[in-house]
Amino acid sequence: MKCRFCNNKLKHIFIDLGKSPLANSYLNNTEINKMEPFYPLRTYVCTKCFLVQLEEFEKSTKIFSNYAYFSSYSQTWLNHVRDFVNNTIERFKISNTNLVIEIASNDGYLLEYFKKQNIPVLGIEPAANVAKVAKKKKIPTISKFFGQKIAKELVRNGKKADVLIAFNVLPHVPNLTDFVKGLKKLLNNKGILIIQFSAYLLTLIQKVEFDTIYHEHFSYFSLFTLQKIFSAYNLEIFDVEELNIHGGSMRLYLKHLENKDIIISNSVIQKLKQEKKFGLTSISTYTTFSNKVNISKRKIWQFFIDAKRKRKTIVGYGAPAKGNTLLNYCGIGHDFIDYTVDLNPHKQNLFLPGTHIPILKPTMISKTKPDYVVILAWNFKEEVMEQTKIIKKWGGKFVVLIPTVKVL
Ligand SMILES: [Zn+2]
Repeated sequence: MKCRFCNNKLKHIFIDLGKSPLANSYLNNTEINKMEPFYPLRTYVCTKCFLVQLEEFEKSTKIFSNYAYFSSYSQTWLNHVRDFVNNTIERFKISNTNLVIEIASNDGYLLEYFKKQNIPVLGIEPAANVAKVAKKKKIPTISKFFGQKIAKELVRNGKKADVLIAFNVLPHVPNLTDFVKGLKKLLNNKGILIIQFSAYLLTLIQKVEFDTIYHEHFSYFSLFTLQKIFSAYNLEIFDVEELNIHGGSMRLYLKHLENKDIIISNSVIQKLKQEKKFGLTSISTYTTFSNKVNISKRKIWQFFIDAKRKRKTIVGYGAPAKGNTLLNYCGIGHDFIDYTVDLNPHKQNLFLPGTHIPILKPTMISKTKPDYVVILAWNFKEEVMEQTKIIKKWGGKFVVLIPTVKVL
């Protein structure tokens, strides 16, 4: 196996999480009685560019063509995006003469905020079922996978992005080179490219967030590695922000290398320094990660076994992809967790892949009054606790498992 970016031979394992089903392949009533494909969840680290990466076992066209994840269902995320849009319009003086293009635009929830301010938008979203929802909301959306081909087509039709946005998509890209070349092409001469992604490598290692590793995430990035990748195609990172959303995300602002109007912020230099100090440019930081994950797994087991010995009832909150990695890797199924709940109606009444834990409506919690509510979607911990505070009435408690087991 060779590095997705620099073609170097991959020899070092970062973390091997055994075999797992595709994290977003929720099952219905009949599917749970059928064979279910499990794929190795093994990540490598490249000794040359330090890109942490997963082998592509299942074609991404299969993973993303009918994606169950609809962005619009979390209020925290919607607020985050609304603030981002307002901030972007103000900072870069975006007006109705500009064009905003978003890659992996989902159901159009982000572009809607630009559209409300009369700024022309265009979305590119590969999942046809999700793109359909966007089109219904009158957000112009192309239902295709992004790469050089589609970028060329758009440029030929006179469309170039003044603001090019790619939120939570870079880790999902199997062919990084083609994707970055496409970005370069589609960005207007003075345009701004804004990339945001979760599972930022420094946070992932520091907080042992191994559950953010799943098959849909092909790559895990540090700023060090991203700078190498983008500069190879003459794109320059001029600002970087670390955000609390999604358990630690990173936002990058980029421009063409040829555009000298914008100065490089000190934040870039500071972040690179911090990464070096943490050890992200030495291989031992990566090869010792497995030990940390093993310790975490044992602590998670301990919680579930202790709780069950005391005859406590446990349910989950959320049915996120990360929850599926955690439950499958730790072997925690229906025997420990009675059910989980999710606000997203597209997930309700389905079953988690692998563990086959049923996904129900959140109102179920007040009916069964469980002792523990394990927040699988721990990145939305505050929101979940606020919405489900009713559990205090019968002495129920919230639990998070990452970075370490905590009864709240
Ligand atoms: Zn490499």
